Amino acid sequence: MPRTVHIIGAGVAGLATAVRLAGRGVTTVIHEATDQAGGRCRSYDDKATGMRIDNGTHILLSGNTAALGFLASIGASARVSGAGAARFPFVDLATRERWTLDLGTGRLPSWVFDKGRRAPGTRAVDYMSLAGILWPAPGKPLNEVMSCSGPAYEKVMRPFLLAALNTDPSASSSDLARAVIRETIAAGGHACRPYLAPEGLSAAFVEPAVAYLQGHAGAFRLGRQLHRLVVTDSRVTALDFGDGTVAVGPDDAVVLAVPPYVASSIVPNLQTPDEFRAIINAHFRIVPPPDLAPMVGILNGVAEWIFGFGDRISVTISGADRLLQHTRDEIARMIWQDVRRMASVPAELPPWQIVRERRATFAATPVQNARRPGARTAWSNLVLAGDWTDTGLPATIEGAVRSGNRAADLTLQP
Ligand SMILES: Cc1cc2nc3c(=O)[nH]c(=O)nc-3n(C[C@H](O)[C@H](O)[C@H](O)COP(=O)(O)OP(=O)(O)OC[C@H]3O[C@@H](n4cnc5c(N)ncnc54)[C@H](O)[C@@H]3O)c2cc1C
Repeated sequence: MPRTVHIIGAGVAGLATAVRLAGRGVTTVIHEATDQAGGRCRSYDDKATGMRIDNGTHILLSGNTAALGFLASIGASARVSGAGAARFPFVDLATRERWTLDLGTGRLPSWVFDKGRRAPGTRAVDYMSLAGILWPAPGKPLNEVMSCSGPAYEKVMRPFLLAALNTDPSASSSDLARAVIRETIAAGGHACRPYLAPEGLSAAFVEPAVAYLQGHAGAFRLGRQLHRLVVTDSRVTALDFGDGTVAVGPDDAVVLAVPPYVASSIVPNLQTPDEFRAIINAHFRIVPPPDLAPMVGILNGVAEWIFGFGDRISVTISGADRLLQHTRDEIARMIWQDVRRMASVPAELPPWQIVRERRATFAATPVQNARRPGARTAWSNLVLAGDWTDTGLPATIEGAVRSGNRAADLTLQP
């Protein structure tokens, strides 16, 4: 068992690594470049709205067992609220049609056979034709294994896959799409109940993890950016932070849980994903009107998912690179127009914030998926973690937690 595991990066992957190790009695030290843990999954105090907001609304599904397990281990299960059933209200802004996709609570996708529960204008047979995705076809884009057109695709598969893959689904990796579908939609409503963090991402995923680690001999070093790994005889022997080095003892291990573009600058000859997709989130300081459901999917709008929280309306747009050419003001106005078209809100824009995460996730294409490295490295005490490592899943909290769990387990192997 290693004496101390140094973890570089306090995103979800780094925190999950530390929590798993701390639970097994291993001493951990997390070194984080910024002054805050959480990485791409964090809350912050926003001046423009005067609210504490998230960098982006994050959704878990009940099939995300590792993510929910992580929350249970840090005593934070109650910090996320799960819907009792997998019911997803949708609005098509082009036709004004409204419906609720009702995946129910069972373990089989039986909703497909119930006209009242599936999307309007779709037939059971339309969903059957999408089942091609369940057969492995390694390295292929989705549009080569399944038809990416028609109402069942446009009204059900596309919105779900776009949210999960953050990449135009038709061009995305069918391997990643298959993994997501198998663990969620194909497993019935039982695996698709959505979970949100109404008190914020940091209150759910980060602060309880930090408290857990501090109670288990875990140390945090914030504002510490790793510059270089010092290697001797195929082992990492020191961490170089520019303003000082930390020795890595003979029984110590290092988990590098930084984004891919940082990892490839630190580890020689490491191939990583190098193409990314943006996510844009809007937050409007306004109490949601009674006619706004807690979570609504939007078709044919700029907005894709609209969320009503206690003090605000938040909107998520995945694969949002096409909007980056617009100013934040323009984006806020376009999104508010969509909110107005589906809920009783005033015309005047409430106080708002637009968060543009340009490199929110790696592009979930076959080419980028093939660039994901495994967790082991050429150096005996260095392990990689992060949603971009080869987890078999797209870049999600579930993938980040699984990568952290795996990294922790590898450091424990002799
Ligand atoms: C806007 C947005 C919305 C999302 N929505 C969802 C969702 O609904 N559901 C879902 O499951 N997932 C979602 N995701 C994806 C999810 O946030 C990520 O998969 C997850 O947070 C990645 O965690 P990570 O630890 O792998 O990486 P990161 O969060 O990137 O963590 C890496 C950490 O390393 C630190 N670091 C970088 N360089 C150094 C260095 N040199 N030295 C020390 N530290 C360093 C960084 O500061 C950071 O804290 C979303 C992401 C975004 C951006």
